[in-house]
Amino acid sequence: MSEKPHQNLAIIGHVDHGKSTLVGRLLFETGSVPEHVIEQYREEAEEKGKGGFEFAYVMDNLAEERERGLTIDIAHQEFDTDEYYFTIVDTPGHRDFVKNMITGASQADHAVLVVAADDGVQPQTREHVFLSRTLGIEELIVAVNKMDLVDYDEDRFREVVEEVKGLLKQVRFAVDDASFLPISAFEGDNVADHSENTPWYDGQTLLETLNSLPEPEPPTDAPLRLPIQDVYTISGIGTVPVGRVETGTLNTGDTVSFQPSDVAGEVKTIEMHHEEVPRAEPGDNVGFNVRGIGKNDIRRGDVCGPADDPPSVAETFQAQLVVMQHPSVITAGYTPVFHAHTAQVACTIESLDQKLDPASGEVAEENPDFIENGDAAVVTVRPQKPLSIEPASEIPELGSFAVRDMGQTIAAGKVLSVTER
Ligand code: GDP
Repeated sequence: MSEKPHQNLAIIGHVDHGKSTLVGRLLFETGSVPEHVIEQYREEAEEKGKGGFEFAYVMDNLAEERERGLTIDIAHQEFDTDEYYFTIVDTPGHRDFVKNMITGASQADHAVLVVAADDGVQPQTREHVFLSRTLGIEELIVAVNKMDLVDYDEDRFREVVEEVKGLLKQVRFAVDDASFLPISAFEGDNVADHSENTPWYDGQTLLETLNSLPEPEPPTDAPLRLPIQDVYTISGIGTVPVGRVETGTLNTGDTVSFQPSDVAGEVKTIEMHHEEVPRAEPGDNVGFNVRGIGKNDIRRGDVCGPADDPPSVAETFQAQLVVMQHPSVITAGYTPVFHAHTAQVACTIESLDQKLDPASGEVAEENPDFIENGDAAVVTVRPQKPLSIEPASEIPELGSFAVRDMGQTIAAGKVLSVTER
């Protein structure tokens, strides 16, 4: 690992606008693809009379990793600039992109929004911008991609920038803080080098922009919270829950508790990247074994924490949410599925407590009868099954959620307070 400060970066945007291609380009330009791999491909390409196609190799490689799906060491792509060590916290093109955003964007420090120059703002552009705003990303880098397809036309670039600015204003992103760059992920324009194709653009390249981002917030001193993704039985070891440490540290010898399953035991071994380690920290994907806990005692959606400071289990919680796309109106009694960390639980919106003015955040109406698209509101929520969740002010990593119904994300929000069971 690098000694440079670490930044988590989310890459968001509408399908096919070039997120994967951009990630490939970033890895390629920063030398994060091993030289021997590139060399091998270069030789293959030359043999076939297709010199200069090394970049395509990176893309094939990424596509292959994606197909392998989520494994214990999730293939988080990494690269570094002069200042920072970056991890892409999202997996572009993953089949459940929105769900990834909920865990990914909530802890990304910054995001790159990819908007194809020929296509402009599309439904998922809106959805991802909205989610990243609700989940706490403060600054966006807007990459207007595929400039090659619009002949590097400055007017078209300005048009797309205006369109995106309109969207940012709607969700109250600080438009002045956002950077807008004309790029081509495929051709490489303005990613690592200033492009001759855009003489009208005198701003930074994407790598320069990433390099000059503000330092990330220091990690919180929150207690261990490790949402469980899966539970395996491994011969010779026993039950092995796996997941990513969101906050705190996990050490062998610790006594940990799983909530809401409400079982506890001592950590015997921790494994990361197929090696035993004594300790795991935020961001680490681990499998671990806990004395006396069987496969059926715990499940996906449980959160592991210290036995003397266990994860909260909500009887009800109060939350602030924003309605993004609902075909009609939301009233008290509505019971969609809430996605929080690795849990998916049907929850009833028991009461609508306040409607907020989206522009100022001030209370616009007490106890509204309904809320609809574009509304921000404070609501009281009752999970229909036990759910471990935390106030975002205490543990932001465990305090955000998305509300899904009919196959789409209809709202997203943050937990304000939890009334424990
Ligand atoms: P994603 O769904 O957002 O990850 O999009 P992909 O990265 O898979 O790209 C979708 C398609 O657009 C692919 O065929 C890419 O080759 C193409 N593409 C991506 N970036 C560019 C670009 O800068 N210029 C052009 N012409 N095509 C691009």
